[in-house]
Amino acid sequence: MAINWTDAQIEDVVKAVINSLSVQTSDKGNKTWDSTQYCGRKLIGVYEKMEDAIDAARAGYLAVRAMSLSEREKVIAQIRALCRAEAPVMAALGVSETKMGKVEHKTAKHILVADKTPGTSDIVSQVKTGDDGLTLTEMAPFGVVGSITPSTNPSETVICNSIGMIAAGNGVVFNPHPNAIATSNYAVDLVNRASAAAGGPKVLVASVIKPTLDTAKTMYQHKDIRLLVCTGGPGVVRSVLSSGKKAIGAGAGNPPVIVDDTADIAKAAKDIIDGCTFDNNLPCIAEKEVFAFANIADELISEMKKNGAFQITKEQAEKLVDIVLVDSKNPKTGIVKKTVSRDCVGRDARVLLDKIGVRVSDDIRCIICETEFEHPFVQEELMMPILPIVRVPDIDRAIDLAVKAEHGNRHTAHMHSKNIDNLTRFARAVETTIFVKNAPSYAGIGFGGEGHTTFTIAGPTGEGITSARSFTRLRRCVMVDNFRII
Ligand code: NAD
Repeated sequence: MAINWTDAQIEDVVKAVINSLSVQTSDKGNKTWDSTQYCGRKLIGVYEKMEDAIDAARAGYLAVRAMSLSEREKVIAQIRALCRAEAPVMAALGVSETKMGKVEHKTAKHILVADKTPGTSDIVSQVKTGDDGLTLTEMAPFGVVGSITPSTNPSETVICNSIGMIAAGNGVVFNPHPNAIATSNYAVDLVNRASAAAGGPKVLVASVIKPTLDTAKTMYQHKDIRLLVCTGGPGVVRSVLSSGKKAIGAGAGNPPVIVDDTADIAKAAKDIIDGCTFDNNLPCIAEKEVFAFANIADELISEMKKNGAFQITKEQAEKLVDIVLVDSKNPKTGIVKKTVSRDCVGRDARVLLDKIGVRVSDDIRCIICETEFEHPFVQEELMMPILPIVRVPDIDRAIDLAVKAEHGNRHTAHMHSKNIDNLTRFARAVETTIFVKNAPSYAGIGFGGEGHTTFTIAGPTGEGITSARSFTRLRRCVMVDNFRII
């Protein structure tokens, strides 16, 4: 059911959603999302209270449990179809609401979710037979899953999580990112529309109108929530992992890239800029800093410039540091720390350059600069198209610095090389969940690379590239002395 949306149609829908959801002004004068309306109709599955959302998700869970696998698969097929058809709307809505990322890339991310998120085929049973009979191990649902989703891939994560969690037989309640409520809840509504259209329950997944840390706390503590899944930065992953419940944590990354002197430099430069600028560097897997062998660094930089990179001087880089990293005070400890400015995350390179008085043409998509290893552009997860390049003399130094820059997140790393020993050494040393060789970062989540996709990459808790089976618990059934046929 392909619908070809025109730009004008997308703009209309985005305006309608934004207008219908942003009607209230808070005490502080900020606009807050208040309504559950979309184009004059109620968004399905979006509740005022977290307790009501959990009750609805529990009813959804009971309905899914009663469905056959093929009925579940029918609902999932319909979610895929709607996700494909409405990808441009969710992409435009996401950019409009969060002010981050790029519509064409967000559209591609939704299509990727629709095409490559595994469904029920991921749920596989195991059988062991022997002298004592037969033992069956099945992947069973947890029940109601509580999912915390980020602002960087809001609707992508809601739909990807929904497909996997429903395929596993669970119900889901979301606590979406406060900066992406409209986009996330549009996706919740989409999943529910798909369910109803495919003969499933009217409310299959649920969410709240105004997610906060308090609604998250209610979710953590609710007796009906059996599994928590958190996709976000270090703070929220820590809080979920200390909730006392079974939790899957998909946390921050700071993916380094090594380019050695055996690489195809022109290809490496293009791949790195393509990956680094995808959705303006919002994906947690995107290239964040480069360690280039000194003997190919000039050529690499020159090839990057042919692919839309603009090199800034050290002085300009210092000016940019003061704009993209701002002081933030921890309310509990009073300690002031530099953090990434939310006004700069996911913005176009042109917009960032404009802030330091540099005007560039429309084809510039990435800011590059040579820095030392200690530079904040190397150390901080910026999530914007700024790429620092550090020269290294050899593979020993490259691996040493790249591992340090990854900060033990064990998330993602990249390398461009034809030297199998160097590739293997770095992969072993960095121990990341994803390691991409000679390709843009997004190949690691199935975009131009083999394998399924996910927007919840669980490094800290070890599930890795999550899929339906990650959201299951194993149950065993034993039949002694019987049920064998040999
Ligand atoms: P964020 O950390 O700002 O917020 C994530 C969610 O957690 C939001 O809903 C937020 O309101 C909530 N939250 C924050 N602190 C909380 C707390 N103490 N208790 C309860 N809820 C809390 O995330 P973001 O800025 O939208 O996303 C960017 C971060 O997420 C980056 O660090 C990125 O690397 C990471 N990320 C990781 C993955 C992955 O798969 N590993 C995917 C996407 C994003």
